[in-house]
Amino acid sequence: MAVIGFIGLGNMGLPMACRLKEAGHAVRCFDLDAGAMERAHEAGLQRSASTSEAVAGAEVVITMLPSGRHVLEVINDPALRFEADALVIDCSTIDVESCAAFHAALGGKGLLTLDAPVSGGVGGAAAGTLTFMVGGSDDAFGRALALLRAMGRNIVHAGAAGAGQAAKICNNMLAGISMLAVSEALYLAKRLGLDPQKFFEIASTSSGQCWALTSYAPEPGLVPSAPANRGYEGGFASELMLKDLRLAEQAAVASRSPALLGAAAASVYAMHCAAGRGRLDFSSVIQMLGTAQPAGR
Ligand code: NAD
Repeated sequence: MAVIGFIGLGNMGLPMACRLKEAGHAVRCFDLDAGAMERAHEAGLQRSASTSEAVAGAEVVITMLPSGRHVLEVINDPALRFEADALVIDCSTIDVESCAAFHAALGGKGLLTLDAPVSGGVGGAAAGTLTFMVGGSDDAFGRALALLRAMGRNIVHAGAAGAGQAAKICNNMLAGISMLAVSEALYLAKRLGLDPQKFFEIASTSSGQCWALTSYAPEPGLVPSAPANRGYEGGFASELMLKDLRLAEQAAVASRSPALLGAAAASVYAMHCAAGRGRLDFSSVIQMLGTAQPAGR
């Protein structure tokens, strides 16, 4: 069993750290937020007084932080003393540039590193069913696999350093665009007088079929397990989708890749969040379409 330093005990980090503890690992946790530390204590996790205390003596260090800036702040803290053969895994969703800086800074110290962002949300973190998209060397992946399996169900070695973040950003851009496309189609179908259930039955078995429609439909009443049926609570927040669409836009510009639909989706999600719906599941973006309609029509 490994000694693990876990940094970042937010919505995702806390349940992930709990899964590692349940799998028998010694998990030492740290978060800047006192409330998060209290929740970690209540969950029976071992609290550290600082990041450097959590990292000292740890064979594996895991970060689960809001953005690239936070990850680089943490790993570049001069007070940190990593074990000489430590493996550092960043599970946050971060920009391509910060991800490269993460690998370069720690790799330069001779440490093994992985970018391993996740899909599956808070529910998946609690149930240990996350999907991990992993970038890094075969050695680092081999060492991490048992730990990742304690937190996830699908563990994919996407390629070399950075490949995990690339996969995450591209996947979420696709999910954001397709949710908007499904919303537009459902909205137009209703405006044309079609019963949404009938349209759902037809499109689910026709060329319009996709995950956003058949597993996560944004219209209430079509897919019982979808957040649309519980007021768009839970699920994947619109503000996190906007964050990921912006990461995709940034990566598209830097790599000179046309991503016009990604940029259009980012713009719609930005308006949706600005309207105060950022905490709702991203399928609630369908509500943006109604606001385009003149009153009384
Ligand atoms: P969160 O904001 O709930 O948690 C982040 C935690 O990091 C906070 O508790 C914060 O206090 C802590 N933190 C920030 N700076 C720190 C520092 N310097 N040292 C120690 N702790 C620090 O975020 P989350 O929802 O847990 O998401 C974490 C990451 O996972 C993000 O990159 C997010 O995009 C990604 N993600 C989230 C979800 C989701 O459904 N919430 C799903 C997939 C991926």
